[in-house]
Amino acid sequence: MAKIAFIGLGNMGSGMAANLVKAGHEVLAFDLSADAVAHAVNSGASAAASAAEAVAAAEAVVTMLPAGKHVRAVYEGEIFGSAAPGTLFMDCSTIDVASARHVGGLAVEKGFRFVDAPVSGGVAAAQGGTLTFMVGGSEADFAAAEVFLDAMGKAVLRAGDLGAGQAAKICNNMLLAITMIGTCEAFALADKLGLDAQKFFDISSKASGQSWSMTSYCPVPGPIPTTPANNGYKPGFATAMMLKDLKLAQDAAQTAGATTPLGAQAEALYAMFDNLGGGASDFSGIYKLLDGSWGE
Ligand code: NAD
Repeated sequence: MAKIAFIGLGNMGSGMAANLVKAGHEVLAFDLSADAVAHAVNSGASAAASAAEAVAAAEAVVTMLPAGKHVRAVYEGEIFGSAAPGTLFMDCSTIDVASARHVGGLAVEKGFRFVDAPVSGGVAAAQGGTLTFMVGGSEADFAAAEVFLDAMGKAVLRAGDLGAGQAAKICNNMLLAITMIGTCEAFALADKLGLDAQKFFDISSKASGQSWSMTSYCPVPGPIPTTPANNGYKPGFATAMMLKDLKLAQDAAQTAGATTPLGAQAEALYAMFDNLGGGASDFSGIYKLLDGSWGE
């Protein structure tokens, strides 16, 4: 079993760190929030006084931070100067592809091992150890990381070289946003045409309109009883989080010269929903914006 430094013990990181402890690893925990560290200690981790202290004693490091600027600051400011040569870094945060390639490239240049390994699945999956990891990095670093990521997830998939994990994550979530908005529009139109939502679901879920947004995460109450639509659109996957991923996708599209008009439209619609107070609602709650009932 390994000594693992875990930095960033928020909504996602706390459950992930607890699963590494359950798998028998020794976890050294650091977060800027003392409460978050105390919570990790309750789950069996040991507290570290700083990120630098945590990584100095570890053979592997997991980071689960809000955005690219935090990842750059923590790796460049604290981790690189303190970690032992050959330490394996796994950045599971969702960040921009450019930052992932920059930090990962620096790590490899300095003789460390690095994978970007963003996740699909929310807080419940982080707690339950059922995340999906999309991994970018060399085959050797992927093989080394897989052992640890397996303890926190149900699937660990290599997408390609450094940055490919982040690329897979934002492309997937852009597609998800587009299919969710399309599914919501179709249900809202069906309703205006006097078509019962369950009937439309029964037909479309077996016809060519079918998608994950319809059959696993149906945005109207009824057809799939476990979705956030049946629970006042309590997340689930919050609109603010989806908006963050859509912004990353649009930035990446601009940098890469890709044409993503529906992705841009999805970002604009989620930004509008967020401005109208929908940020903390599940992203499927955009149904209420489209059927005109938001705010009623
Ligand atoms: P969060 O804000 O709850 O947690 C982030 C933690 O990082 C906080 O506890 C914060 O104190 C800590 N932190 C920030 N700067 C730090 C520093 N310099 N040193 C140490 N700790 C620092 O966020 P979260 O919901 O856990 O999300 C983390 C990442 O996972 C994000 O990139 C997010 O996009 C991604 N993600 C989240 C979800 C979700 O459903 N919450 C799902 C998939 C991916």
